[in-house]
Amino acid sequence: MTGRITRHNPARVYELVGTVPSAAPARVDAVVRAADAAQRTWARADIAERVAALRAAADAVEPELPQLAELLARESGKVLADCRGELGFALTFLRWVADQAPRVLADTALDDAAGRLLLRRRPYGVVAAITPWNAPIILSFLKIAPALAAGNAVVVKPSPLAPLAIDRTVRLLSSALPDALLQVVHGDAEAGAALVGHPLVGKVAFTGGAATARVVAAAAATQTTPTVLELGGNDPVLLLDDADLSPEPMRRLVMASYATSGQVCMAAKRLYVPETRHDEFVAAYLQAADEVLCLGDPLADGVSMGPVVTAEAAARITGLVADAVARGGRALPVGRADPGTDLRAGHFVAPTLVTGVPEDAPLVAEEQFGPTVPVLAYRDADDLVARANAGELGLGASVWSADEERAFTVARRLDAGFVFVNTHNRTGMSLRAPFGGVKRSGYGREYGDEGIAEYAQTCVVHAPAAFRAGGAGAAANAYPSS
Ligand code: NAD
Repeated sequence: MTGRITRHNPARVYELVGTVPSAAPARVDAVVRAADAAQRTWARADIAERVAALRAAADAVEPELPQLAELLARESGKVLADCRGELGFALTFLRWVADQAPRVLADTALDDAAGRLLLRRRPYGVVAAITPWNAPIILSFLKIAPALAAGNAVVVKPSPLAPLAIDRTVRLLSSALPDALLQVVHGDAEAGAALVGHPLVGKVAFTGGAATARVVAAAAATQTTPTVLELGGNDPVLLLDDADLSPEPMRRLVMASYATSGQVCMAAKRLYVPETRHDEFVAAYLQAADEVLCLGDPLADGVSMGPVVTAEAAARITGLVADAVARGGRALPVGRADPGTDLRAGHFVAPTLVTGVPEDAPLVAEEQFGPTVPVLAYRDADDLVARANAGELGLGASVWSADEERAFTVARRLDAGFVFVNTHNRTGMSLRAPFGGVKRSGYGREYGDEGIAEYAQTCVVHAPAAFRAGGAGAAANAYPSS
């Protein structure tokens, strides 16, 4: 399909924010071929030269950050402060990769009694970066920065639900890089499939939903193209019986659930509280939410939560709450609404906290990806850990306790790629801490040394000692002893 992708503001659906051209398969093919040609020269450049270009690319984006943040807010429904934060963090990440990559990607040379060994970190070629709509800038940078540092070219295919700010950002980055090394193509399944299945794509880095991931991994497998998959989560929050329920940590926990209207892979999605502190927790949580959670237009001052991304998402989420109530749950309103926003003009979903809902309700058992969160009472540590580990997802989790040692002891029992202590979601991230899922939340890592090494493959040159000049030799076809 060719034509244009149009994007309307989820907070004011009558407002057209912008359009981008959608790429037919022939266009995707031309883009990948040009990227492949550019990559061959780029890979031969010294890494110092490559990271200098990355720093220049970051500098090219910086001056436009305010306009990009507003564009992102208008196309996605995320609040303006969050959009500014995402863009700023993406540039921080890019510069951090420029600092760390020369160390992480350095060749290792050994020359000793066992022989001479050279370990080289070589690029894959063209990396296809397929990203979701909910954090299009940082989720693209997590792939672009390490992939380029390692000597790859990158073709980004963003979600058609938020293509505008990332399109402009990639163009700004590209202005400081060799032609065709970093490009963007737009579209949905057709353009994505043309990219993933392209024989000149050397690696696919995908962030998105599980159903799409299965299609992407299967298509990549037809060319035996390696993949990194960063998928959804159903993150449990484990409040131990000594957890601090005072306003400051409670405000942090509230925003860990409702930032971006709960549409975050690592949002706090199930709240486990001790039976004995259930009512105390609900009261403390609702009070903190009144202070910190305000639903309204993402561009309005003081608003901390905007609409959800589409009418379909709004209907799905309200359906989950209705189902939970039909199963005996009680939906409590959370936070307040901005009086200046017309909530009927967009895909606004009033945030809720749902108590008394059974564990097998879809609201608990599945990733809700929206502003509604169940509170679940537990009896003891074994009950808590078993229920937190239930299900097929294992992205994030958090443990809250006044005793850090206790929190770490419980954290070690959790099936999650990333366990936060006394926080959850973005406030608990670290550039140096690898992030990714276990179980069906995906494989491969972003951030940290591992997230850089993900885009290089180790290749070896080896001269065994036995066969070097003056070596002892060995029987033909013998196994080595070391
Ligand atoms: P999605 O799976 O619908 O789309 C992701 C991307 O895949 C989009 O760019 C889409 O156009 C593309 N796509 C669709 N069909 C394709 C095909 N056949 N071939 C190639 N590409 C194709 O995801 P979404 O709704 O945009 O995002 C929500 C999901 O992403 C949630 O499950 C969320 O938890 C997850 N997520 C995970 C992380 C993480 O780091 N683990 C981060 C953010 C979001």
